Amino acid sequence: MQSYLEIENGVVPSVCSLDCPDQCGLLLHKRDGKIVKIEGDPEHPVTKGSICNKVRHMSERIYDQNRITTPLKRVGQKGDGKFVPISWTEAIETITDHWKTLISEVGPESILPYSFYANMGKLSSKGMDRRFFNRLGSSQLDRTICSVAGEVGYNYTMGGRYGTDPEEMTETKLFILWGINAVSTNMHQMMIAQKARKNGAKIVVIDVHKNQTGRMADWFIPIIPGTDGALALGIMHILYEENMVNQSFLEDYTIGYEALQDHVKNYTPQMVSTITGIPVEDIYSLARMYGTTSPSMIRIGNGPQHHDNGGMIVRTIACLPALTGQWEVTGGGALKSNADYLTHNIAALEHPNLLKQPPRRFNMNRLGDALLEEKEPIRSLYVYNSNPALVAPDANKVREGLARTDLFMVVHDLFLTDTAKFADIVLPATSAFENTDFYTSFWHHYIHIQEPVIPPFEDSKSNPDVFRLLAQGMGFEEPSFRDDDQEMMKQALSNLTNPHLSEVTYESLKEKRFMKASGTNTILHNLQTPSGKIELYSKQMELDGYPALPTYIPIIQDSDYPLLYVPTANHNFLNTIFSNNEKHIKMEKEPKLFMNLHDAELRGIEDKDLVRIWNDRGECEMTVSVGEHVLPGVVVSLGLWADQTGEKRLVNALTPNRVADMGGGATFFSGRVEVSVSHSNDEES
Ligand code: SF4
Repeated sequence: MQSYLEIENGVVPSVCSLDCPDQCGLLLHKRDGKIVKIEGDPEHPVTKGSICNKVRHMSERIYDQNRITTPLKRVGQKGDGKFVPISWTEAIETITDHWKTLISEVGPESILPYSFYANMGKLSSKGMDRRFFNRLGSSQLDRTICSVAGEVGYNYTMGGRYGTDPEEMTETKLFILWGINAVSTNMHQMMIAQKARKNGAKIVVIDVHKNQTGRMADWFIPIIPGTDGALALGIMHILYEENMVNQSFLEDYTIGYEALQDHVKNYTPQMVSTITGIPVEDIYSLARMYGTTSPSMIRIGNGPQHHDNGGMIVRTIACLPALTGQWEVTGGGALKSNADYLTHNIAALEHPNLLKQPPRRFNMNRLGDALLEEKEPIRSLYVYNSNPALVAPDANKVREGLARTDLFMVVHDLFLTDTAKFADIVLPATSAFENTDFYTSFWHHYIHIQEPVIPPFEDSKSNPDVFRLLAQGMGFEEPSFRDDDQEMMKQALSNLTNPHLSEVTYESLKEKRFMKASGTNTILHNLQTPSGKIELYSKQMELDGYPALPTYIPIIQDSDYPLLYVPTANHNFLNTIFSNNEKHIKMEKEPKLFMNLHDAELRGIEDKDLVRIWNDRGECEMTVSVGEHVLPGVVVSLGLWADQTGEKRLVNALTPNRVADMGGGATFFSGRVEVSVSHSNDEES
């Protein structure tokens, strides 16, 4: 069969590589060997031909004139962005010579990799790189910035990242979208809910911001940030009180339901209303709607878990479908993540056997502290698939660390990002459409193969190729460093212990392009909790130092600043991806802060004023939108914007780098700020 690379003019299938739950099937239109148009693949069983605007305009990013074309060496000050081109040979020699010296003088743990999932491909994000750093004996990174707190919390209740199948949600009669702006960050979830609405389903959105999703809901419920756990407990209180629990389900499939019944008596609707800011009658209405509608599905978003108490919040919400027996109903249940249905052979791909001893570890949420640590300091940082100068919390501290003149830093990226400007060596990265890889969704149940559609852009290389070169430069002789992409995929899809992928092999996936995990409707009979049941009471949590029953624990009040600050995602960027691409910036227009009218009046702030947002960590400036989109005492901003001369828009300058209650997760949404007029709208007219 002709490879997609050889097709100069035509349409070829692909898959979206971005860190987005939908993982859409794509069709790429090629003319004269270049991608000229991107659209959805109508044959994809879940995403069915629709894609977001971000990726519809992806080709402008792929051929952006600012893409890095060759390896670069820094010639100016760190952060200035002054570089000269060098060859790959010089780049690899410079890096490996430096690392060999560091290893002999202070040891390999002076080197730290820093990466996340800018490209979700398994080979690109957790393949040859993991083999390399395992063999190197470097320090290791705990990749905790996104969903770990909620996953740990969910797993205490449910035993794994298993949830409702989106393809069954056509049956759903009640969607509760809890802390997720699905229109912008999980668009097919919203499309499914809207389609079901035509058959009588209701959409309820619980969020701190009346964003696009909230505005499309049948009922939007605004909540004070970090209090979602209290709301879930208040709903449980009413479900028990008004006998809306499914007793036979509780007896068959759960443990701790009697202890929970006693426990939630404490969470009266009156008390929960005071905590959450939700009127008592609304708490009753929501509980009654939830207790009497079936099938009901709770889509648990990323928002609630980004708090000090994020793990416990998700653990608590995850108890709700068990109380009403929704796991037995097609289209019922909850969905935090479906990732465990699609787990590949991790050991075969990452080779943890190459580690000689347990490594020193750093939590990626505390990068600033890690880089400023004076005892046994990190002396070299290798960044790929991420842009920590913008995405990491407490960003001013991170930048102070990145600017250290004694830190040898390498960045592998498509663009000279805000992080790359601090690098000593910058390496040009391929886009996903230039790579061989495989992808698994954490929302739907499909695994996909990606075959290269266009050749590497100029002199760019994929992550696996760079790590093969680095391994060669370091003199690593293990055969695993010579595995090509195809061989790595075969290994990752062989000897699988995951029964849901029993029909998947490299060959079958190559032939079919995408395949569905099997046996996913047997979740109730295969729960991986210690008891094998849904754990409303968790002995394991007690052993780990948490309350065994779901409990409301307030977020930390880290200062006296009066406003809770929640920096959320925007519509046209994906984290910082697209924040440097003209087309996407134009679509997004400008950074915005949403503030309640009451708070604005108190401060003499008017709609569209330029405002200063600050706390002890830093400051930034944005145009304010005044109204009723957020509750009093809360401000919300949209998007992670790349630096621009003269503009202060680094929202993570304000966010705390404390870690959440579970898994070392991030607490982006638990910070506090003050806001004042920076520049009045009137002054412009
Ligand atoms: S970013 Fe998400 S919605 Fe957009 S194409 Fe990719 S997977 Fe689909």
